[in-house]
Amino acid sequence: MSKDFSIAVIGLGLIGGSILKALKPKNFHLTGVSGREETIAKAKELDLADEYSTDIESVKDAKIIFICTPIHKIIPFAEKVSRIVSPDCIITDVGSIKGSIIDHIDNSEFPINFIGGHPMAGTEHKGIDNAADNLFEGAKWVLTPSRWSESQDIEELKELISSLGAKVIIANPFEHDRAVALISHLPLLLSQALFGMVDKYPDESIRDLALTLAASGFRDTTRLAATNPELAKDMLLLNKINIREAVKNLEDYLSKMDKNLDLDEEKFMELAEELASNRKNLYSPEGKNIYKENF
Ligand code: NAP
Repeated sequence: MSKDFSIAVIGLGLIGGSILKALKPKNFHLTGVSGREETIAKAKELDLADEYSTDIESVKDAKIIFICTPIHKIIPFAEKVSRIVSPDCIITDVGSIKGSIIDHIDNSEFPINFIGGHPMAGTEHKGIDNAADNLFEGAKWVLTPSRWSESQDIEELKELISSLGAKVIIANPFEHDRAVALISHLPLLLSQALFGMVDKYPDESIRDLALTLAASGFRDTTRLAATNPELAKDMLLLNKINIREAVKNLEDYLSKMDKNLDLDEEKFMELAEELASNRKNLYSPEGKNIYKENF
């Protein structure tokens, strides 16, 4: 692939900007599309692409398109774009939800050459100013093909994403949503619940003392409560069935943990040691997920 090979990114925020940063050294012809002129000006300053526009028509010659807008805008963009590009253009997205998007695409009356995507990398921040270098290095990147996806297109996209340093995992979109409810959306909800409960604690003097004393433990466990509100809203509302199932499992687990408080010290230590060791084995000291390497 070379400068004749054209890739477009729609939505130049944290993820779209980071994708352009990762693609820039690779000698593709890059087009960046965003909603606001202010974002385009910042993208130009950062020299992220070869062409910039607020007009969706500018992606018409692209061979691969990444839709990186807020989740609720992905389907309308996929439909719009599929009508203006050539039929062999691969359209993918980065949305944190996959089931409802693929379901809609699969039931489309006209072909949409769409392969769902979800990079398992990001932060609580938003916008092009927070686009990061090497965001996808060592990250997992889920692909959920649709009924229109050809195997050679899946391979081509897989190769491109792997060249950004990510490891591609092909998954069923509904299983993806159940899994991310456990490791992404439930943690967000818990982080919001913990922060909200303390922030609104009814005993004012204890609340003030607690917030004054809050150090790294509270900071780390409530980091996700500061998530970009539009993203938090989309993730929680669009995946609520799976999140509620996860909450039920958590409630059962918490009542087990509550009973564990009555165990003798030795038995309690065994459980605490097992949890601590399994948690340590999930991530390397640098914070990389090493699950498959350890289990
Ligand atoms: P973000 O920083 O807010 O970026 C979204 C961008 O979409 C904005 O910069 C916005 O730019 C652009 N946009 C909005 N409406 C548009 C329109 N009509 N036309 C063109 N561009 C438009 O959010 P993000 O965190 O990058 O999230 C984007 C996607 O990545 C979401 O679908 C999310 O689920 C997924 N994702 C996020 C993370 C994460 O941790 N943040 C991780 C994995 C996946 P303008 O203001 O210029 O319109």
